[in-house]
Amino acid sequence: MERKILKNHEKITFKVRDLVIGGEKPIIIAGPCSVESREQVIETAKALKAIGVDMLRGGVFKPRTSPYAFQGLGIEGLEYLKEASEITGLPIITECMEEKYLDIVSEYADIIQIGSRNMYNYPLLKALRAYEKPVMLKRGFSATIKEWIMSAEYLAAEGKKNIILCERGVRSVDNYTRNLLDLTAVPIMQHETGLPVFVDPSHGIGIRELILPMSKAAIACGADGVMIEVHINPDEALCDGEQSLTIEQYKAVYEALRG
Ligand code: PEP
Ligand code: MN
Repeated sequence: MERKILKNHEKITFKVRDLVIGGEKPIIIAGPCSVESREQVIETAKALKAIGVDMLRGGVFKPRTSPYAFQGLGIEGLEYLKEASEITGLPIITECMEEKYLDIVSEYADIIQIGSRNMYNYPLLKALRAYEKPVMLKRGFSATIKEWIMSAEYLAAEGKKNIILCERGVRSVDNYTRNLLDLTAVPIMQHETGLPVFVDPSHGIGIRELILPMSKAAIACGADGVMIEVHINPDEALCDGEQSLTIEQYKAVYEALRG
């Protein structure tokens, strides 16, 4: 399929504040699945900062399977993320699902996350070309490598290059884990696009005990970063508690990756 931009395989790197994305050092992003309250996100950010982390994640617009499940705090949540960022100095990444919120999300976030369900949302991808902020494009949960490359090309078609790809698992024959974390995608997508490729083992696996070994595996196969869900009290989490690490468990992952 025709590619005009992401085809020369040259390594693309860019900066997010002081962080070099796609550089020598893999980036560690951590935080709750969802921003649940001001206290929760600030407490989490402080705990992560004390251990060590490069960037804070937290969803405020949540793509939930059930329309009756917690949908996120929306713009109120952006305010809490911003406060957590100001207190800790950490850059933030958060998902945007709708074009009408791109202005506000790009104002608050250091990176705009496009979730798995929107990898095929071509109007949204086209709209993002006009924004200077970097975009993290997560792999669709049934997306082939080619489809993922072409979605990245949609973003890049008018010259946008500050794009991160994120492998987050695909549906497979087995449902022992939430998804099948496809680590082969890391070197393939790096080679095919030149873009930095991150791994999200939390959504890829869905089982918190497996996050440590698979985070190590992600870095071992050359990932440019990982994005991990952490909760101050996973049993009480409003979303994805079963895959969220406790602060203690996060510390073990951080030490394994950076120690
Ligand atoms: C997320 O990272 O918050 C998320 C919803 O993940 P995904 O889009 O990969 O399901
Ligand atoms: Mn989640």
